[in-house]
Amino acid sequence: MTLVIDGVRKSHGAFELGPIDLAVGEEVLSVLGPSGCGKTTLLSAVAGLIDPDAGTVSLDGLDLTGRPPEKRGTVLVFQDGALFPHMTARENVAYAADADQRVAELAATLEIEGVLDQKADTLSGGERQRVALARSLAADPAALLLDEPLANLDAPIKRRLRDELRPLLSSLDVPVVYVTHDQREATAIGDRLAVIADGELLQLDTPAEVFAHPATPFVASFTGSVNLFSGQVVETETGPALDWNGRELDAAIGGEHVGDDVRFCIRPEYVTLADDETENALAGTITRRVFEGDGHLLDVVPDGDDEAVRLALSPPAYERAELDARDRVRLTLPADAIHVIGNDGGPHETPSRSR
Ligand code: ATP
Repeated sequence: MTLVIDGVRKSHGAFELGPIDLAVGEEVLSVLGPSGCGKTTLLSAVAGLIDPDAGTVSLDGLDLTGRPPEKRGTVLVFQDGALFPHMTARENVAYAADADQRVAELAATLEIEGVLDQKADTLSGGERQRVALARSLAADPAALLLDEPLANLDAPIKRRLRDELRPLLSSLDVPVVYVTHDQREATAIGDRLAVIADGELLQLDTPAEVFAHPATPFVASFTGSVNLFSGQVVETETGPALDWNGRELDAAIGGEHVGDDVRFCIRPEYVTLADDETENALAGTITRRVFEGDGHLLDVVPDGDDEAVRLALSPPAYERAELDARDRVRLTLPADAIHVIGNDGGPHETPSRSR
């Protein structure tokens, strides 16, 4: 089963979505983008809730364009679950199921057996979300479309449901499109990741590839590469390198040429504290420390510069380093962790991979 979105466009006043081209096989495709970038508009066009201005949507070669939502085989689940409030959880799921046995199976899978006889409007957010998922799965969708299904849940239940959802969605063996503005959720759940901003598809690849090689400065910053700098490609004795405010950095230079102004990034997790003279080492002063529970973030301003480099340290690494505010440190920016984006934003889309 393959869901193909071909050249879909939709305008809402000044906002323009697309053209979007995506082919989703029996996989989970996460669609990540900031609020207002057009994620819901895209899902609504696929589900038939709105008519696109141009383009087609097809499922296994069958053109769905113009078909009403209930005749598409797609099921769209919104963040509030949209349950019938005065029906019980069981009645909500049974509404879409063709047999009681199916209700029982789904209740077991989604661990909602204990709340089946509760009215939907008395369920907690997490329970409501599970019941909504059970109801959507009861309809045996040919393609499942999820619009921020975990929004509005508190962090622990969100994390737990996220971890449980991934194997469940994969086991459906149908195209699943999972929309979110949360990068952790998008990467934890998706086999592939599409990043959208301002109605435009910026990159489509595996989550690991998007994180390691963001196609544009926006993708880099939206996926957490806060170390985004400007430099220039220069010729050195050992080949092309980056000049960054008068410092020379070794980096993998791809399509860029000597003299090109470029943007480059390095994720904070890859910046390390260096004890000795290593490649791309620089000295600087700690200007900020933030403890984030699962790690420490340090901002270090290199000598003679005013742009901070951020590094992320695990709690043990941070304790070992015995650092104080305003300490001087040496950093290493490993050459193979530096990703050169190019100043025009680079390619807008990485080639989609056949699965
Ligand atoms: P969020 O993450 O906040 O839900 P989103 O990425 O899903 O956002 P959309 O809901 O698709 O974004 O909206 C994209 C843009 O289109 C927004 O600027 C929104 O205000 C506008 N928009 C969406 N639906 C309509 C409509 N029916 N009429 C006018 N403008 C609309």
